[in-house]
Order: sequence, then C-alpha cells, then structure tokens
Amino acid sequence: MPPKHEIDLDPEEQAILRAWRLLVSEHYLEDIQHLQGNPGIIHGFEIAHRLVCEYEELRVAFHLNPTRFHDLGHQVMREQFDEHMVRMRPVIRVVDLDADYRRRIDTLRMRDRNRVVSITVKINDISPPYGWVTEAVYECKRCNEQTTLKQRRARERESPSHCETCFARLLKRLDMEDEPFGVRPPRPNFVMSSEHSNYEDVQDIRMCQAVFNEKGELVHVSDEEEMVGVVSDDLVGELEKGVCVRLNGIVRVEPFPNRTFSKDTRRILSLQVFSVEPVEGEA
Ligand SMILES: [Zn+2]
Repeated sequence: MPPKHEIDLDPEEQAILRAWRLLVSEHYLEDIQHLQGNPGIIHGFEIAHRLVCEYEELRVAFHLNPTRFHDLGHQVMREQFDEHMVRMRPVIRVVDLDADYRRRIDTLRMRDRNRVVSITVKINDISPPYGWVTEAVYECKRCNEQTTLKQRRARERESPSHCETCFARLLKRLDMEDEPFGVRPPRPNFVMSSEHSNYEDVQDIRMCQAVFNEKGELVHVSDEEEMVGVVSDDLVGELEKGVCVRLNGIVRVEPFPNRTFSKDTRRILSLQVFSVEPVEGEA
C-alpha cells in the first residue's frame, strides 16, 4: 500500500508541539486521568492565557497563528486522551485573555481575519443547534481506499478530484514512476462515509457591541454595529438571546449569509468563538 499523505512538520510546528506536550503534561494529566470512563462526548479545557504565555512558542503561536495553535493543541490533547483511554474529544478554550486583545466590533476590519480578539457583546439572536461535517471521509468505490478532506463551514462540500491509489496503480501498469504528461488520473468514483466523517454541532449568533463601566454596569449597547459569529461543541446551548457576555475568538471571513447562489462573492466578518466569559467590571 502506498504511504498516506504524510504531513511534513516544519521545525516551528515541532517546537509548538513540544511546548504543547510540556504544558499538557505539567498541568492537565491529572484532569485527563479523571476523565477515564466518562460517557460524555466532548470535554472543553479552559486554559488561562497567562499559562499559555509561560511557553514562548505557544504565546507566539496563539498570537500569530491561532488556528495552528488550536489544531496542534488538539492533536496533543487527543494523543493524551488515547493514551489514557479517554473516549471524549478534547476542545481547547483559552480564557482570561490579555487586555491587549480587547477590541470593539466597529474597529474590526478584513485585515483582522485569522486574528484573536476579545469583545463584549449583547447576543441579539441565536440559531437552533445544527451539525455540519468538519472532515468528510470519502471511500473510493474501485479500491476502497479512504481519503479525508477538511471542509469549511457555510461552503459547498469538497470532494477529492481523483483517487491517489488508483492513479498510482494506473502508473504502475503503464510502468511510469512520475506523473507523465498526458496521462490523467482515473475519473473520481467516491462515496462519502458518514460513519467515518467528523461532525461538529454549532449555533450561529448575531451580536452587537456592549459597553460596560468599571463597576460592571451596562452603559451602552450599539445596535448599528452588528456582527455574526458561531459557537460550537460544548458551548452549544450556553448562550441565550439578550444576555451580555465576553466572547473570545478568531476573526473569520465568510460568505454573505442567505446568499442565493454560490458565486456570490460578498464576504462578511464572523467570529469563531473559542471561549465565553461573564462580563466583569471593565473600562
Ligand atoms: Zn481508488
């Protein structure tokens, strides 16, 4: 069997993985051991931002590439869960962010995409929970080889263009090592395996800026600047319409909601929430 597509880790990623392993082994092993036998599906780990900052590689990754920070952290957490035979899925929830991350909705721009921000909001509306496929597993109908493709929310589902295994076999039959000019891979013949694919529960939210004073009193709600966002997994069901909360998350750029055709190129900012905190006195 040909090797699966191996992900080459660059030295920076390896350093981040090492730092994550250190953080988890120094602070979370006991928690993980206690989860053994827990029938739950998801476990959210609240990790204080100042703990993240104690590990230089993690502090930098959280700031510069929060998506990679979370992906690699989940990878390390899953390793530990497997090792301790915990069947739940770990989710990292960084809380208590440094004040430097605090922003107001009206200051957010396209250039903030993929950055971490912390905003105080009033929840205007929240959708019923629904599931979407985060990773779709496709099975080749000719050779049964499985191909996993990461999916993006609110986009058309992507499927593989061809089967690597079938293509490799074809080339072998033709006695060719590399992809020769003019030889095309066999036409794709895939079926999605819903059993092996990964799903995530989410809720869409609409929110606006809320301003509090140092005593924690609500001073102002700005209804003009509305923003959308999404909460997932264990945060589903946590928010209610009308409440004020601090949301920490990553700014994403998404297709315009309620678009009538997929070629609509309009984009809006959306907050991919990674943690929710009560509002305390703040200036
Ligand atoms: Zn195949």
